[in-house]
Amino acid sequence: MRKGLFLSRNHGRISATVDLEGLARNYSDLAFVRVYDHLFGHTEQQDILNQVDRHKLDGVVLAGHSAVHFEHGMQGQSLVEALKSHGINRNKIALANLDEQVAMVHTGAFATRKAGLLIDTALARLDYCHDIETVVVSPRHSVLVIGTTAAGIVAAAALLAKDYKVYLLEKGAAFRSGKDDDEKRKSMLTRIKSHPSVEIFLNCDLEGIYGWCGDYSVEIGKPSGSVSITVGAVLLCVGDDTVWISGLRSKMHLMTDTDGFLASDPYAGFAGRTKDPGIWFVPCPAGSDPLASSEEADANAAVLGLTAILDQVKIEHPVLVSEVEASLCGGCGTCVKTCAFAASRIDGQSSVSIIDARRCMGCGNCVTACPTGARDLIACPTRFVNSAIDILSKADADNYEPKVLAFLCKNSGYPAADAAAEPDNRICTADDSPNVLPLRIECAGNIDTLYVLNAFQKGFEGVALVVCKDGHCHNVVGNTDMERRLGLLRAVLRSRRIDDNRMRIIHTAGSEGKGLNEALKAFSEELREINHP
Ligand code: SF4
Ligand code: SF4
Repeated sequence: MRKGLFLSRNHGRISATVDLEGLARNYSDLAFVRVYDHLFGHTEQQDILNQVDRHKLDGVVLAGHSAVHFEHGMQGQSLVEALKSHGINRNKIALANLDEQVAMVHTGAFATRKAGLLIDTALARLDYCHDIETVVVSPRHSVLVIGTTAAGIVAAAALLAKDYKVYLLEKGAAFRSGKDDDEKRKSMLTRIKSHPSVEIFLNCDLEGIYGWCGDYSVEIGKPSGSVSITVGAVLLCVGDDTVWISGLRSKMHLMTDTDGFLASDPYAGFAGRTKDPGIWFVPCPAGSDPLASSEEADANAAVLGLTAILDQVKIEHPVLVSEVEASLCGGCGTCVKTCAFAASRIDGQSSVSIIDARRCMGCGNCVTACPTGARDLIACPTRFVNSAIDILSKADADNYEPKVLAFLCKNSGYPAADAAAEPDNRICTADDSPNVLPLRIECAGNIDTLYVLNAFQKGFEGVALVVCKDGHCHNVVGNTDMERRLGLLRAVLRSRRIDDNRMRIIHTAGSEGKGLNEALKAFSEELREINHP
């Protein structure tokens, strides 16, 4: 593979701490290496693309900014899209965060050495990740509106005005907004009820949803049985009905706040947008009146946002799912029982497990459960994780001990680690957690007990598993399934004379940087006591 390494000074913030020119010299055996002032500027991006073409690169490491920028930020996403259009597969773009994980929290030669380890880890990702396929969807101009609150009615009217088909779902027997005596809304309601492009489901509930933004299959439970519909997007207008939200959360992989209300994707930059770009909601903060007029504006804003997505001619989806090595599959069905999304089945003829890419969330639960090693995650293969543990174990923490490996769930632990680097969240003036080596994984469901054992075998003195809080796992059961597995692992550790207190589960939200710093500091202090009783 012809690999390119593109390093960012981040306008001097990274280069003030990390010797990027020295690192570039260390990697001069790669097909191309260059240090840029920033990776997101127009001139820099143009040069990166020119070098991809000129040097016929087929894998790149972008070393500088947090992965969050490339997955949720406009400039990062545009660089990824540009690289894809120049022939680089999405799974051959690896990232090394030299900013929050190095320059913002460390000093001296240690920072440059840690930056080198993170780049080595990213290069290993290119070695072990194969190309992924992309599914192209022609978005459906139809939306399922869940909830007949005032917001639901306004949203349905706005969608009809844009010539969209609307499915209106209400778990109660009557429209909620019927209590409203506003004349304008009453006439809106009358029009909606008789409109030929509206299908109304009263006394019904959502039973399941799968697919991609632009093309979802939804199962609706009716008193007379179930019915399936296909829609381009879903808009939740359930107001402050936290009981309903709680029921929908696990079926739709929604995030909620501490009060049980729907929570937006913190990186979406738009209140009401979830992590799934085709699933939106009209916010209803705790204590507010669900029929208040601001809900009307929010409903219109949500309709504008989601129709802007569905009005695209096509939407591309990378197929980042799990995969099966048929020659290793014994057809035991464990993966079928483990999957919370009904994404696996055993093929009747071959007796081999089959994955439904439209349902698979890429959580990794089946990978950790498979007894034969037939399963793997395309985005985070087992061989990559073990290789990364090996690379990171080589860290010389400059007499800072104990050496800790932190598995960071990409949905909570990784953004929390980014937040932990912010000056307001730092808890000491010197380096924060120089003894902690970060490894980003897809989900807590992705954490195999063998990874933890491997880390101890490679010399880590502590293993931290930084994952979502209860009830907040994007994959619903990733964190709880991990805890069950690790509960069993504790006895194994003790039988190998490894104190099971050397393994620590840290529950966090992406914004809780200070809490993560404190938890890692406390864990390190406990490990020092174990090391030197
Ligand atoms: S758990 Fe593994 S061996 Fe069993 S059916 Fe699934 S892929 Fe095959
Ligand atoms: S990766 Fe998760 S969602 Fe996909 S098949 Fe495995 S358990 Fe199911």
